[in-house]
Amino acid sequence: MIKLVGRVALVLWCACSWLQGQDAKDEATEIATKTGLVLESQESDHFVFLWGVPRAAGQPSLLAAEAAWSEFSKMSSVTDAGLLFGSRKPLIALFAAKTGYDKFADWYDAKFTPYPGFAENVKRAVFWPQPTPRIATFTHLKPNTPESARNIIAHEVGHLLVMRWKYHNNFLPPWFEEGFACWLEAKTLGRNNCYCFSGGYGDRATRLDKINDIEWPRWKSSVAQQVRGKSDKALRTIVPMPLSDLAAPEMGKAWSIVDYMASQGGDKLLLFIEKFKAHWPKEIVFEHNAAKAAAQEQALQDVFGKDFDSFDAAWREWVLKNYKIVSGAAVK
Ligand SMILES: [Zn+2]
Repeated sequence: MIKLVGRVALVLWCACSWLQGQDAKDEATEIATKTGLVLESQESDHFVFLWGVPRAAGQPSLLAAEAAWSEFSKMSSVTDAGLLFGSRKPLIALFAAKTGYDKFADWYDAKFTPYPGFAENVKRAVFWPQPTPRIATFTHLKPNTPESARNIIAHEVGHLLVMRWKYHNNFLPPWFEEGFACWLEAKTLGRNNCYCFSGGYGDRATRLDKINDIEWPRWKSSVAQQVRGKSDKALRTIVPMPLSDLAAPEMGKAWSIVDYMASQGGDKLLLFIEKFKAHWPKEIVFEHNAAKAAAQEQALQDVFGKDFDSFDAAWREWVLKNYKIVSGAAVK
C-alpha cells in the first residue's frame, strides 16, 4: 500500500512539475537541423527557451519571462499555467540577429502554416507572439542587448497571456492587447521599453527618444497630466483605432485602463477578457467594426456595470486619486 501511495505521489508530482526536458530538447534539435543554426535548449518552470545566443545572454530574458508569469499569477490567482497553455510550455526563442529570427519564422511556417503569408508577416516585425498552434514568442539581439531583450520578452509574454486566456481563434482589440502587454511589462520590470505600437507603427522615429525606456511612475505621471488637462481621448474613440494609429498618449491611457481594471480585482480583469471574447463576432475580420465595439461595451457592462462613457468617468476619477505627477530628470 505504501508503495502504491508512493507511486501515485510520484505520478502526481510529475504531472504538477510539468517537466518537458526531452520534448524540449527534441524540438530544439529539429529546429537547429532545419534552420542550420546553433541552438541550445533550456527549461524554466513555465517556459522552454531556445537560445541562438550564449546561454548567459539569455538569462535576463528567462528571469523576465518567469517574473511576468509570476505577476500575472499574483494578479489573477491563476496558478495552473496549463489553463492558458495546455500541455506544452510556451517556446521563447532569442536569436543573435535578424537572420536567425527569419530562419525560425520559415521553420515555423513550414511546420505549422498558421495562415498563408505567415513568414512574410513575421519577417516585417522584429518580435512576434504566436498563440497557436505551437505557442511561441521570438525576437533577436542586435540592436537589442540582453538587458533590453528582457523588456521585449516580458511584454511578449503579456501578449501570449491575453491571447491565450479563454482562447478564441480571432483578433483582439489592439488598444487592449497592447495595453495589457505594456502593463505587464511595467508591472514586471518597473519600466517600459517595448513599443509594438511605435517604431514602425504609430510614433515616428523622431519621437522614440522621448518614449524610450521610461520608468513606470513617469508613464503614470504623463497619464495623470492628460486627465488633469482633459486632453485624453475618450475610450470610445480609442477602441476602434488600429495599431498603426495608437501613439504614446493613447497607449498610456490603454495600459492605465488595464491597471485600473486590475485594481478592481484580477478576477474582473480576466472576466472582462473572457466576456469580450465571448461576445466577439464569429467572423474573422482584421478591421475594426461596430460588432467588435459592441462586444467590448457589453463586456464592460457585464463586469463593471458601465458603458464606455461611464467607465471613462470612473477611470478618470481613479487616475486623479492614484497617479502622481512626477518631475525631475528621467532615470535611464
Ligand atoms: Zn506589444
